[in-house]
Amino acid sequence: MNGQPKRILITGAAGFLGSHLSDRFIQEGYQVIGMDNLITGSLRNIEHLFKLPNFEFYHHDVSKFVHVPGHLDYILHFASPASPIDYLRIPIQTLKVGSLGTHNLLGLAKSKKARILVASTSEVYGDPLVSPQAESYWGNVNPVGPRGVYDEAKRFQEAMTMAYHNFHGVETRIVRIFNTFGPRMRLNDGRALPTFIAQALQNEDLTVFGNGQQTRSFCYVDDQVEGIFRLLHAEYAEPVNIGNPDEITVEQMAKEIISLTNSSSKLTYGELPVDDPKQRRPDIRLAKELLNWQPAFSRLQGLEKTIAYYQALDKIDLKETTQ
Ligand code: NAD
Repeated sequence: MNGQPKRILITGAAGFLGSHLSDRFIQEGYQVIGMDNLITGSLRNIEHLFKLPNFEFYHHDVSKFVHVPGHLDYILHFASPASPIDYLRIPIQTLKVGSLGTHNLLGLAKSKKARILVASTSEVYGDPLVSPQAESYWGNVNPVGPRGVYDEAKRFQEAMTMAYHNFHGVETRIVRIFNTFGPRMRLNDGRALPTFIAQALQNEDLTVFGNGQQTRSFCYVDDQVEGIFRLLHAEYAEPVNIGNPDEITVEQMAKEIISLTNSSSKLTYGELPVDDPKQRRPDIRLAKELLNWQPAFSRLQGLEKTIAYYQALDKIDLKETTQ
């Protein structure tokens, strides 16, 4: 280690999770190289890092050949559209970053002898037929449905990552991320929780899809980052779920957000999107055992922090993020 700081490449660094991961690795004394093509992210998420000597940024599409000068100890591959509204708008780019992008980064990890962790998702379980979902569950995905572009890109990403591990001996890690929320998530990304916060803060009615009885579980971003940090440093190449198993119906969550924001909003009900999962809840026994990890923040604590962050933004910013 010869006293040099570890160098880590974080793809998707200008996005929600990538920016929080960049903060964390900087805090831990790493040299962080952020890479992003800004297709769904924003430089605003990392502008505070630009003045730091241990942060560099490359504006680059990782689905094209990736070159980084110098040595690398670690790679975190987080570049990918993550919300349905994004991957339905840019389906081909979504498939490419999960497949070609992952291939490029695995090749880079091999050539630099770096350890790579890839961001997979609970969406690999599709509309699950078992609950909670353990890593051993193979999933129920419709490859040709509207969400197939994301789900199958991530399933391919996992397969490619395991192949590089098994055939090339690359040190790989796979995190299956369940719904995560917190400051810097985009309020207009179409997912229920950010949409409800935006609507409640503007005293607009909250639009619940279907009858609102479908369930979700939400992990606060600091917990997610901690789980990823521990997994990167653990000796385990199979996928690991990181998420908060505390399950809530979408309708209940909408009511919770109205009450936490003291909003005058009411609930309205709309049509359920195609292939919308009815239930999503992680089994986190493996993360507990392997990483001694479990969520430290309750949903309510996380919501309070998140709502306070958005309340502190001026009105124009809030409006911009919800158009
Ligand atoms: P995000 O959209 O905020 O961030 C993704 C970032 O990747 C953006 O900055 C975007 O510009 C960048 N990007 C996309 N394609 C790229 C490309 N070809 N080249 C370079 N950069 C590119 O999303 P997020 O919520 O931060 O998600 C980050 C990762 O975590 C994704 O891989 C996502 O699939 C995964 N994930 C997130 C969640 C969640 O709840 N947020 C859940 C499961 C999985």
